[in-house]
Amino acid sequence: MARWSGGARRQPPRRAQDGRGGCGAVPARYLRGAGPQRVGLAERGRVAAGIIGDVPQQPAYEPHGPREECGVVGIHAPGFPVARLTYVGLHALQHRGQESAGIAVSDGARLTLHKRLGLVSQVFDEETLSRLEHEGESERPQIAIGHTRYSTTGSNSLPNVQPVYASSDLGELMLGHNGNLTNATWLRDGLAEQGVEFATASDTEVLAKLIAHAPGRTWAQRVEHAFHRAVGAFTFTMLTERAMVAARDPVGFRPMALGRLPAGDGRAAGWAVASESAALDAMGATFVRDVEPGEVLTIDDEGVHSHRVSLPGRSERLCVFEFVYLARPDSVIGGRLLYEARMAMGRQLAREHPADADLVIPVPDSAIPAAIGYAEEAGLPYREGLIKNRYVGRTFIQPLQRSREAAVQMKYNPLPEVLAGKRVVMVDDSIVRGTTTAPTVEMLRRAGAREVHVRIHSPQMKFPCYMGVDTGRRSELIAATHSLEEIRVRIGADSLGYLSQEGLLAAVGREEDGERRHCTACFDGRYPVDVPLDVDKFALERG
Ligand code: SF4
Repeated sequence: MARWSGGARRQPPRRAQDGRGGCGAVPARYLRGAGPQRVGLAERGRVAAGIIGDVPQQPAYEPHGPREECGVVGIHAPGFPVARLTYVGLHALQHRGQESAGIAVSDGARLTLHKRLGLVSQVFDEETLSRLEHEGESERPQIAIGHTRYSTTGSNSLPNVQPVYASSDLGELMLGHNGNLTNATWLRDGLAEQGVEFATASDTEVLAKLIAHAPGRTWAQRVEHAFHRAVGAFTFTMLTERAMVAARDPVGFRPMALGRLPAGDGRAAGWAVASESAALDAMGATFVRDVEPGEVLTIDDEGVHSHRVSLPGRSERLCVFEFVYLARPDSVIGGRLLYEARMAMGRQLAREHPADADLVIPVPDSAIPAAIGYAEEAGLPYREGLIKNRYVGRTFIQPLQRSREAAVQMKYNPLPEVLAGKRVVMVDDSIVRGTTTAPTVEMLRRAGAREVHVRIHSPQMKFPCYMGVDTGRRSELIAATHSLEEIRVRIGADSLGYLSQEGLLAAVGREEDGERRHCTACFDGRYPVDVPLDVDKFALERG
């Protein structure tokens, strides 16, 4: 696969990051409310939208796995409280991004947006949701989209928070995106040469403006045009005055599920989409099906219109890491419940890498199903040897010291009563940089474990992801620079075993007729699309 460096064209003039005067800033009429949400014209680019003042600090906690990407929600449901339902859906997708969140709604004539930095529960309160629902007004919103973000392109700054705004001759739109465009710089240069201006440093604005300025009489035709030009991962929801558009790129890296909201209380049934089916469950929607790769759904008062686009050389490659770690275990993707898929990974791992041990423990929470599967297959007792503090998350600021040992200590507490004198199999989902595995193994030993055998229910991660998962650079990946034995020594384990790629794909169980349907590039370097030569999530900010 050819590699793309992205530097061949002249960069567009840099836009002020406070966005003053930037055309991509959200017009003030879209900003609702009083107090901290009210903004003047001079502020609107900085706000983009509804955000001033009390910005939370940057997170100091470093997670042990790859950082998640983003979560998207979309609803078309006249008569339903669409903003509140979107809030519930975003809350269910909080694991996919903890840096910022936003909801945009339409009442058929006006688009309204609220977004800012922070967790979903910090960004929205009762007053904000009430304003988004236009409570007390005659025209209530019927359509909504929502987004929760981890920044894989652009920094975690206010203008980059989604949904983003664009205007066009077809009308105005707001868009929230999961994934990464690998040719965003090239696309932005091309649009800038046509006179399109940018107010943010995110590839999502590039995607929104690519669609806004595309040829076509319908939104579906414009999205199809974007499919032809954009490369990379882009599953998104888009709000227009009268429709909600949901789409997955033709490779379908990132998942999306379609659901039905039940009729009742004098209202007809509605439609909802979300990155994961677990969010549909939380919203009270019934899962209907996955949105297909290359499918554009336009949902309006007439119903659901599906437009399918297939491009030569681009076939489905759903991210296999969604099954390993990214998505919730109670989500169904491609007809497979992830909890079951992870148990199958654990069983396969036990067959490939048995251990002479007394018990099996997970690194909670993500490795729990795989550890149960491993224990079942190995005929060993399953125990909880590490108790997780569920309130240590991305926004946790360490008050005392920033060492990784301290971070691990604050996240996990070992149970000496379970571990003392035991030969322990510790199952984890992945080792990315290897920086938190060693302190975790050491913690087990201090709690009395006689032996620690580390088992990983994914293959060695040797290549960076460019499709919306922040794995860091190749030089930061421990498996790219160390042998298996060197990693074992470095993490202080008595033995170390990774699940094979064949074993992982068998456990996921979606390969049909020998046809490969998953991206496995971070394990084998076989990227399904052209990728840049190196990871630089701030490339658009350097313009
Ligand atoms: S490179 Fe890895 S994390 Fe990225 S899309 Fe492919 S399988 Fe998923």
